Amino acid sequence: MIQTVETLIIGAGVIGSSVAMHLAKVGMTGIHVIDLDLEGSLSSSELNAGGVRATWVQPINIEMSKLTIDYFSQVADQVGYKPCGYLWLHPEERWNRALQARDRQLEMGWPVDVWDVAQLRNRVPFLDKTDGIAGAMFAPRDGLINPNLLKNHYRDVARSLGVEFEDRTVLRGVSYEDHSQSPIHASCERFEKVMSHETKLEISASASHDLGRAKVEYRAQRMINCAGPWAFRVAQILGYSTPARPVRRQVCIFDGRDVDLTPYGMIVDTSGVYFHPEAMNGLAGFANSDEATGINFEYDGERFFEERIWPALYERSTAFERLKHVTGWAGLYEVSPDECGIIGSVQEGVFEAHSFSGHGVMHSYAAGLVLAEEIVFGRSRTIDSALLSGERFKTGKLIHENLVI
Ligand SMILES: Cc1cc2nc3c(=O)[nH]c(=O)nc-3n(C[C@H](O)[C@H](O)[C@H](O)COP(=O)(O)OP(=O)(O)OC[C@H]3O[C@@H](n4cnc5c(N)ncnc54)[C@H](O)[C@@H]3O)c2cc1C
Repeated sequence: MIQTVETLIIGAGVIGSSVAMHLAKVGMTGIHVIDLDLEGSLSSSELNAGGVRATWVQPINIEMSKLTIDYFSQVADQVGYKPCGYLWLHPEERWNRALQARDRQLEMGWPVDVWDVAQLRNRVPFLDKTDGIAGAMFAPRDGLINPNLLKNHYRDVARSLGVEFEDRTVLRGVSYEDHSQSPIHASCERFEKVMSHETKLEISASASHDLGRAKVEYRAQRMINCAGPWAFRVAQILGYSTPARPVRRQVCIFDGRDVDLTPYGMIVDTSGVYFHPEAMNGLAGFANSDEATGINFEYDGERFFEERIWPALYERSTAFERLKHVTGWAGLYEVSPDECGIIGSVQEGVFEAHSFSGHGVMHSYAAGLVLAEEIVFGRSRTIDSALLSGERFKTGKLIHENLVI
């Protein structure tokens, strides 16, 4: 089967769905989005912590988050946005940098309060062990979102404007033909049956497979790589390379027992462990710097909680002494060398938006908008996103963001 489309987007996570929505909003037609698994059980968009914040150091990251969170506020009920705040606990060595970053955040219209240790104890009484905290910052408009609702919101709007989403369809090869209306030929495999979790894992881990499925060909004017942690592979298929790589990241659910977290938002400890209320429990995560790159969905279980999470939390609060591990999972960060997203044009007819390095949900609306603007008008208008182009890894103009968790 051969299908002719204008735009073929690879990946229907929050980023691909947002790009599709924005392209359709500016009036483009013939947009198809393909995904191995629209449900997304291995996608980062389903496995993340749901935190959204504009408390960044670099203006481009503040702008991307601010625009995105402003949108979340407008559709808060549909996407489960709660402005319950981010509370950052800073050690001495980061305090001055955090104060400077706050000046910039305020200048750019993002409210951030500074608390000394006495105020912190007063506002959050269960944090009764404050050794090593130089001060705290609370950003009341940062908060939490339901990423599944968000992804489906982008898709619903896109579908209402004519975008088509194709499930169980994997990009396998691309060739280019000069002087043609639709110069990009993409060959895909479509799986007829619902896939088991094991099959999805197997397909996601390797570049090629032979599971007996139908071939589908697309002819397209342009293609967009929105394949998240698999973007490096899709880039290879498209004939270019990107330095982004997948890195396993684990989160766990714990039973707080002696502490009710529901009045609070996201709390980021000096150790880098972050946690927030999750229904009647807590969700905690930690991005260890010694994690190898590669596609790995293995969750370390109780060991992750006992080695990475509980010791740091117990150092912060006596109420955390009796925490109990409930469950957890591993997902993939899509990490670029400077831990900032990669958005823009790659070559004639090929574009990319991926590798948000652990913050793609909070940048998703803006990422879709700026890429759609670049495609339609030749450059982004709402935010100048030229800094985020993948070209920066060739020219050495990296973005030095250091408030990544
Ligand atoms: C544990 C964890 C915690 C996180 N916490 C946060 C947080 O608090 N806040 C935040 O903003 N971000 C967070 N993130 C990061 C965030 O989840 C990602 O940045 C974001 O979801 C990336 O979205 P995406 O659409 O680019 O990728 P994905 O959601 O992974 O989507 C990519 C899609 O591409 C598809 N695909 C890949 N290759 C092909 C192919 N060849 N053919 C067809 N389809 C293909 C995949 O099936 C997948 O569905 C976290 C991530 C993890 C893992």
